Amino acid sequence: MVGVSTKAIHGHDYYDEVIGSFKVPIYQTVVFEHPDRSTGVSRKGDRGFDLKYSREENPTVRGLEKIIAKLESASHSLAFSNGMSCIATLYFSGLRSGDVVLLGKESYGVTQELALDYSRFGVKTIFGGPETDKLVEKIDRNIRMVVVESITNPMLRVLDIGEIAKRCKETGTKLVVDGTFTTPILYKPLKHGAWVSLHSTTKYLSGHNDSLGGIMSFNSEQDLQELWATRRKLGSIISPFEAFLSIRGLATLEARFEVQSRSALKLANFLSSHTRVKEVFYPGLKNSRYKKVADSIFERKLYGGVLSFKIKGGAKQATEVMKKTKIIKSAPSLGGVESLLTYPLLGPAMTMSERLRKELGIDESLLRLSVGLENEEDLESDLDSALRSV
Ligand code: PLP
Repeated sequence: MVGVSTKAIHGHDYYDEVIGSFKVPIYQTVVFEHPDRSTGVSRKGDRGFDLKYSREENPTVRGLEKIIAKLESASHSLAFSNGMSCIATLYFSGLRSGDVVLLGKESYGVTQELALDYSRFGVKTIFGGPETDKLVEKIDRNIRMVVVESITNPMLRVLDIGEIAKRCKETGTKLVVDGTFTTPILYKPLKHGAWVSLHSTTKYLSGHNDSLGGIMSFNSEQDLQELWATRRKLGSIISPFEAFLSIRGLATLEARFEVQSRSALKLANFLSSHTRVKEVFYPGLKNSRYKKVADSIFERKLYGGVLSFKIKGGAKQATEVMKKTKIIKSAPSLGGVESLLTYPLLGPAMTMSERLRKELGIDESLLRLSVGLENEEDLESDLDSALRSV
């Protein structure tokens, strides 16, 4: 299998020879016969773990994991109930008392909050960035783990993961890349030296704003044993139904991501010349300082479906725009078929200090738009009339 869609559609490898079905069914069961009556020992799943209880291993979940492993060019994937339980499992498995973990300054707020909670177990969290060089400067032999996002939120900075991975290799530091904004279509972190690549599948991979999930991929067999065992203990596995929805969503990932990225670029250009808009942040814009690095590291000339912009005025005008759009809904999250406007000061930037917001460039006139699959012209006129009315 070579192409992204071929892998996304067929990569689960499921085929029921008895009834001729090639769709992964929802194995909505907690238990499997154990021990196997015919052999008297445990049945094994395809990768050797006991198949007896769905908190541990489930064939529908395996379908999802197999697809993602192929998309990420990874040896192993594990699926979780959401992006945060994926990150929580990774922290729990990978951090020890006395460790230092380095997070990107603009990484997801809850990822930061959870790391900070680890201070009660003697783990220190420090922050670096927001640009690649500033982050690399902070990496030394004392850092156990670095966690960064490939495109940051809400300012859409593109980090050069290869540079960060190079430094992590020198210092023996484990690099975790949250690629939720890029998806494996644009970037496969493991190919560039990351230890673990993870996603909130809630966003593009599932893609319909109707299912929560998380996934991590990596190459080492020892990590598979450890992370699988931690998932079993924490009970952080995805449910069979949510796994099914993610498998269904993945079949159209490439088609959706292409259209959403192209619409986002058009809308970013449209907003750049709008009289009510001060500044637009999108790595695909010709004048974006991140276009060069994006073009040199992304596998396609696409930049994702999320952009941010500052409108002329302040909090009142920004929140008024959110009330005035008709097609575009006001909600958190991103990457789904519905276009969503988010006010970062009430979402991703809510827990940040004033000083950090200033450093990152986040202010009260900022709005984030996740471009969905509606017709681009309709989104343009929806934004235009909302902007003109405030
Ligand atoms: N990583 C990123 C970049 C996110 O934006 C989010 C959620 O917004 C998460 C992780 C957490 O994912 P979930 O909401 O599926 O727990």
